[in-house]
Amino acid sequence: MKSLKKISLILLLLPSVLWASMAIQNTPILGGIAVIDFESNHHNPKAFYHTTPLYVQHIKSNHWQALIGIPLLEKLGKKSITVQGFSTQTLDFEVKKYTYKEQHITLKGKNKKYVNPNLTHIKRIKQERPILSKARTTFSTQSLSNGVFTRPVGGIITSPFGLKRFYNGEARRPHTGLDYAGNTGTPVKAPADGRIILIGEYFFNGKTIFLDHGQGLISAYIHLNKHLVEQGQLVKQGEIIGEIGQSGRSTGPHLHWSVYLNRTAINPNLLMGQK
Ligand SMILES: [Zn+2]
Repeated sequence: MKSLKKISLILLLLPSVLWASMAIQNTPILGGIAVIDFESNHHNPKAFYHTTPLYVQHIKSNHWQALIGIPLLEKLGKKSITVQGFSTQTLDFEVKKYTYKEQHITLKGKNKKYVNPNLTHIKRIKQERPILSKARTTFSTQSLSNGVFTRPVGGIITSPFGLKRFYNGEARRPHTGLDYAGNTGTPVKAPADGRIILIGEYFFNGKTIFLDHGQGLISAYIHLNKHLVEQGQLVKQGEIIGEIGQSGRSTGPHLHWSVYLNRTAINPNLLMGQK
């Protein structure tokens, strides 16, 4: 009986070996993904941007690719990554400019606390920061998905990735995700297989879920109404993980969806074959 279970487990895991690799367009812009091809005869070469480990995928024979998420606020120009196999290679790429749109938002009444948080709120924000940062910077060596994403919800995009935001005239960090419109209670689906690495309720993000897809590819679901999964749970692409809501700093019900590669928020559309 035990060995039968083992065999079926192996059969279940087998497709993971046959997964097609993530076919990502080389988009070396701010908030984009640089795709760098390299050759290595090593069975498990590793790549780093500065000291941060990168997502590496096998294409065929000795052909590999490293994916680099480029920060929205990165300096333009020549950058390099280090590849470690049987030898160490340095490979260059160039970060190109991209101009994202601007948006001006006026927050009133109870939402004003999000523009100028009081001391209690600041204390809470400080306590939450390392928890969220730990989730964002998780690096599991094993790939848990093939990196090809589907939409988490069906609604229209109300705020694009990279939008430069101003709250009551004060410049804030650019928008590091996609906002999808949707009514409270609309199911949110996992865009790819992964593991639930964080569930919680935070000052700005409200009810939040973080999903680990492996090799530093992380996705986050923010302002939820409800969590429908548990910490540590493995989920499949398309599985319902929560519901759209308006918890945290949110002017109405919507899903804020962020995707991180090497600790960097990138445009989630790039993982769905769009710009
Ligand atoms: Zn958002």
